Amino acid sequence: MKKLALHWQILIGMLVGVLLGWLMLQINGGTEFVKDYIKPLGTIFIRLLKLIAIPLILASLIKGIADLKDISKLSSMGLKTIGLYLVTTLVAVTIGLSVVNLINPGDTISEPDRKELMAQFAGDADKKIEVAIKTKDAGPLQALVDMVPENIFGATTSNRNMLQVIFFAIFFGIGIILIPEEKSKPIKDFFDSVNEVVLKMIDLIMLASPYGVLALLAALVVESPSSEVFFALLWYALCVVLGLGFMILVFYPMMVKIFTKRSPSFFFKGISPAQLLAFSTSSSAATLPVTMERVEEHLGVDKEVTSFVLPIGATINMDGTSLYQAVAAVFIAGALGIDLSFSDQLIIVMTATLASIGSAAVPGAGMVMLVIVLGSIGVPEAGLALIFAVDRPLDMCRTMVNVTGDAAVSMVVANWEGKLGEPNQKDWDDHYQKAG
Ligand code: ASP
Repeated sequence: MKKLALHWQILIGMLVGVLLGWLMLQINGGTEFVKDYIKPLGTIFIRLLKLIAIPLILASLIKGIADLKDISKLSSMGLKTIGLYLVTTLVAVTIGLSVVNLINPGDTISEPDRKELMAQFAGDADKKIEVAIKTKDAGPLQALVDMVPENIFGATTSNRNMLQVIFFAIFFGIGIILIPEEKSKPIKDFFDSVNEVVLKMIDLIMLASPYGVLALLAALVVESPSSEVFFALLWYALCVVLGLGFMILVFYPMMVKIFTKRSPSFFFKGISPAQLLAFSTSSSAATLPVTMERVEEHLGVDKEVTSFVLPIGATINMDGTSLYQAVAAVFIAGALGIDLSFSDQLIIVMTATLASIGSAAVPGAGMVMLVIVLGSIGVPEAGLALIFAVDRPLDMCRTMVNVTGDAAVSMVVANWEGKLGEPNQKDWDDHYQKAG
């Protein structure tokens, strides 16, 4: 019998997870059972994904850069990538601002709800603000300084240092290009093999993905706050979801169609498992290995491009996050009765773009950086408490957009570089047989 396509398997896993979570909420002791015996399985799944992120970036990026043969190719691809990432982020912020100004959700929240939310989530908001203040206090060039590791082994000990690892891998790759071919061959072959092994490990982890997302979503359901707070924030959440929906359903498919002539269904079929995983894990970094595998094997993008464009995208290109930050900033201002001028909105475009670049690819990071956007337009940071209750579901949605944006850009860059071919789609059954 033919195996169900992976995205269907994951989707079923998600549905069963939500159902299981809901059922457990009705049973005495069910919540504890999920926390003690089901959630850990989800945590193991995320850990496995994170575990291979650094080896994957190192191996694939070093190999990818080394294969470029000359450095001018690298700078041309680099410029196109960064340029496109910036454009898509600006589009996302603009869409977010348009939706939020049109719907004005800040007016829909009642005074008692506002007070209740501020009181209930003040503590949580304070923790995020504390983290953000540390970032804000750093000098203007601190982000650049932070990109350069002083010890590569130190850098590889934390997934938060992904940009440092990327920096080292590019630098090392350039070194390989500059030495004679006969000297560089062994090291290229070595990283090529490591890359193959890591990709195989991703295949194995993906076999567990339907069960992994089941556990993650069941835990999320039993731990989510009561539905009343969701209702007070319905219009705000709707604005974010509308904007994100536009990006996923209209903007990216259009971009892919116009620049690469590939159909939306081809694009979605290829990328959907990564999207569902992004939704379930709320982390572009944890999803990165799968994004790379899907874009390479199912969307036909050459390794040379994916190995460069996707790790950088996972860390700096967050269209969903920037859109959410723009909507949240205007919503919080509105709910606190602060009028924003046109120039305030322009400041949001700039700061949300920068804040999304600075956001780590982990759950909840976008909210920390939102503090900087709020500060830039004079909105009290404590307003963060207003949106806390619905942040996790919105984080899941924006992470999906972040990952989709990276995939769309990599297809366009690949096409411009003449590196977009037919997918070298390894049949899913084939993976099963080999893995089994
Ligand atoms: N969770 C998001 C990501 O990993 C970042 C955010 O919080 O917006 O892409």
